[in-house]
Amino acid sequence: METCDSIYIKKTNRRLIISKIFEKGMISRAELSKVAKLTKATISSQVANLLEDGLLVESYEVHNHIGRKPIMLSINQKAGYALGIDLDYQHITFIISDLMGSPVLTDHMEILTSNYDEIVDILIKRIKYYKDAYSQSSFGIVGVVIGIHGTVSKEEVINFVPSHNWKNKDLKGDIEKEVDLPIQLENNANLCSFAERVFMNHQSDNVLSISMYSGIGIGMIFKGELLKGSHGYAGEMGHMIIVPDGKPCNCGNLGCWGLYASEQSFFHQVNKHFLKRMTYEEIHQLIIVEDKIIMKQFEEFIKYLSIGLNNIVNILNPEILVLNSELLKLYPDAESKIKSHLKSSVSHYNELFISELGNKAAIMGACALAIKNFMGVSELRLRIER
Ligand SMILES: [Zn+2]
Repeated sequence: METCDSIYIKKTNRRLIISKIFEKGMISRAELSKVAKLTKATISSQVANLLEDGLLVESYEVHNHIGRKPIMLSINQKAGYALGIDLDYQHITFIISDLMGSPVLTDHMEILTSNYDEIVDILIKRIKYYKDAYSQSSFGIVGVVIGIHGTVSKEEVINFVPSHNWKNKDLKGDIEKEVDLPIQLENNANLCSFAERVFMNHQSDNVLSISMYSGIGIGMIFKGELLKGSHGYAGEMGHMIIVPDGKPCNCGNLGCWGLYASEQSFFHQVNKHFLKRMTYEEIHQLIIVEDKIIMKQFEEFIKYLSIGLNNIVNILNPEILVLNSELLKLYPDAESKIKSHLKSSVSHYNELFISELGNKAAIMGACALAIKNFMGVSELRLRIER
């Protein structure tokens, strides 16, 4: 009979082995034994189980020199699929990814309502549709993670979504009543930081990601885990006051950071000037011709962005600071211009990047989180197929 200890050790070893295969992509049993620091016998029996479960596949590595080709192991990436949902204001994006986090389908849906029941109904219908559509694969849809543009409690209840004016909504419970799949809710900015760690910053356990779209949200990976605070609401730094007696915010205060350094605030200013709804492409064209109004607006934007960044760096001392903004991606030398404002001899960070994942970070993080939950691993490393 197996003891509790031996079952626990087997489970731990299984998770470690899966993590290492994710990290390496393809690996032989001998190499796996080295990197996981497990005996060849343990690897052999665990891999046999994982192959039987359909989570791994074997293949022969192609190489030119003569000799025995080692059998390589990799994740059976088409054995199941993750569903990531970005529940934004006026639109919902759905991404299905395979088990290596590569998107296989993206759907975008306009929603012209904030009515909670109507939106729950839309979500349930869509999730059921995908569940059926992918039921032919061994595991089907393995999990659903929904990114929420607002605060989510540790119990995964929506606390507040400002754009829809939703308070205390049990979205997870309402969907799970109708759909037999694991559903998880997570704050959008948290999903961004998770994606940065899983897909991009493989070397750091301390990643701070700042999403700068309709407001400013912060997600922080600290010691390899999401830092959520006592109730789950940490990271609402968009409401840090940076201008005394400044613009009025919907939170009730004046001069919040998000009113000066979010993309929404930037577009608000330029739309007012050009008397129309400007697009990213139009702004890009104006940057190319160095339009005075746009360049001045960017200078202001970066100035206010840097005030908040200085404060955050002093509070959290992050190793990696990732700014998630499609606008900053358009602006030449944005990284060095921002860094030039962060010269305090007190505040420290190691690296600052503009996110390559951009506005897809949250939803890619959602897929990755569903995969992590399904695999039961504590550590997940995925690659982006370029
Ligand atoms: Zn505010």
